[in-house]
Amino acid sequence: MNGAADHAVAPVVATPLRTEHAAVAPALPGTPVVRTGRGARSSAWARDRAAGPVLVAGVAGALSPDLRPGDLVVADQVTDGTTTVCSPAAPLLAGALTRRGLPVHVGTLATSPSVVTGAARTALAATGALAVDTETLPLASAAGGAPFAAVRAVVDTPTAPLLHPGTPGRGLTALRALRAAAPAMAEWLAALGPREVLLASPRSFCAGVTRAIDTVERELQRHQGPVYVRRQIVHNAHVVRSLEQRGAVFVEEVDDVPVGSPLVLAAHGVAPAVHAAAADRGLAVVDATCPLVSKVHAEVRRAARRGETVLLIGHREHEEVEGTVGEAPDDVVVVADVDQARTVAVRDPERVSYAVQTTLAVDEAEAVAAVLRDRFPALRAPRRDDICYATTNRQQAVRALAAQADLVLVVGSANSSNSVRLVEVARRAGCPAHLVEDAAQVDLRWLAGAGRIGLSAGASAPPHLVDELVTCLSGLGPVRVQDVHVTDEDVTFTLPPEVS
Ligand code: SF4
Repeated sequence: MNGAADHAVAPVVATPLRTEHAAVAPALPGTPVVRTGRGARSSAWARDRAAGPVLVAGVAGALSPDLRPGDLVVADQVTDGTTTVCSPAAPLLAGALTRRGLPVHVGTLATSPSVVTGAARTALAATGALAVDTETLPLASAAGGAPFAAVRAVVDTPTAPLLHPGTPGRGLTALRALRAAAPAMAEWLAALGPREVLLASPRSFCAGVTRAIDTVERELQRHQGPVYVRRQIVHNAHVVRSLEQRGAVFVEEVDDVPVGSPLVLAAHGVAPAVHAAAADRGLAVVDATCPLVSKVHAEVRRAARRGETVLLIGHREHEEVEGTVGEAPDDVVVVADVDQARTVAVRDPERVSYAVQTTLAVDEAEAVAAVLRDRFPALRAPRRDDICYATTNRQQAVRALAAQADLVLVVGSANSSNSVRLVEVARRAGCPAHLVEDAAQVDLRWLAGAGRIGLSAGASAPPHLVDELVTCLSGLGPVRVQDVHVTDEDVTFTLPPEVS
């Protein structure tokens, strides 16, 4: 797919001033870079142009005191106070600039008919706009609903306005930044085009994660002071940040919690030693361990009581495995992969069972279990599969996406086991796939030539992040969204008794 070929009018880079054109055009060979003229001349150019993608590149005056000369502003919207044009793909362009080490701010860009100074500049800053120039809004309107983006490099600031002896030097700094931004602009242009977005269904929050987040929220309502949470309540940076903003305090260990305070234990489960330590400090504990993780803990306890060695298929460094091992540290041996399954030693091959971390890839866990069954014919299996329904369903849905898509994107944090597994499942199915924390982490280069994009999200990733990513993609061209539905989910878990 070629951005230029998919629009009736080819994309253009609009640079109002001669110096801006000179900074950008040599760094964008093969791209139409047009000098549109200062102020009203840009408006005239815009009026005469048929609708089509436009990327505006130029300099600007900062309104926010946080901006420095040479900082780049990527507009998520452009306004003159009356008319506003949005640029939904701004986080993608900003991400491309950030990856190049450039200082980037995403926000509102104001357009004014003339240079603003003094009280007018202060009033404009009060609207929340980051920077101002005299051309972007008419140029944005020229896109006529086709993709539009704007990158403006800061020359003057509220404390160092245009009429200042340092302006020429700051102007050079800004133009250098603009030139350094050109490769990211080329990526934006190459990523333009219509797309189909295939949404995995089910995706995002599972019943265990919903229960854990609800538990913290209920605790925040019940207590005036801080509510402590041991480790991340679920493995997602957005969820943790949002709960922190509402008063949750995340700690590493029980010892970090003031004596007698409320403490929520995370969804991944903890070893009995953690419960004991919390009791010693007189903490008011609410255990948000997912019931499916608790089930694995119970299996391990039962097996250990029968005198069996428990081979726990999972990743040693994961908190869930840490907690499960803690149920019977002398009787549990972690087996990470097929290689370890081939060599693992047990006390008595007649008394051996296995359990599985809930968030593993189904096929990988089965491969390890098959080796263990071969080696230990007396191996006792869990009563039912330990890999949870949500993990299984999300992996099935991603496999279905991967069969149809040019690219699969999974929203989730890097420390989220089930999210990482979704990426691996897509790749094993032969589709390029990437894990992203949010839209800002999507690399525009992945999107060039990708007309069908599969989207999913790990069980700990909030659904709104997927919606935001779809919105971002719609800023690169028309998007048709389709659900790839593999199964219904109606599982819910009751809240812990302390908060229900
Ligand atoms: Fe529970 Fe499964 Fe969700 Fe983990 S992924 S919290 S085991 S429902």
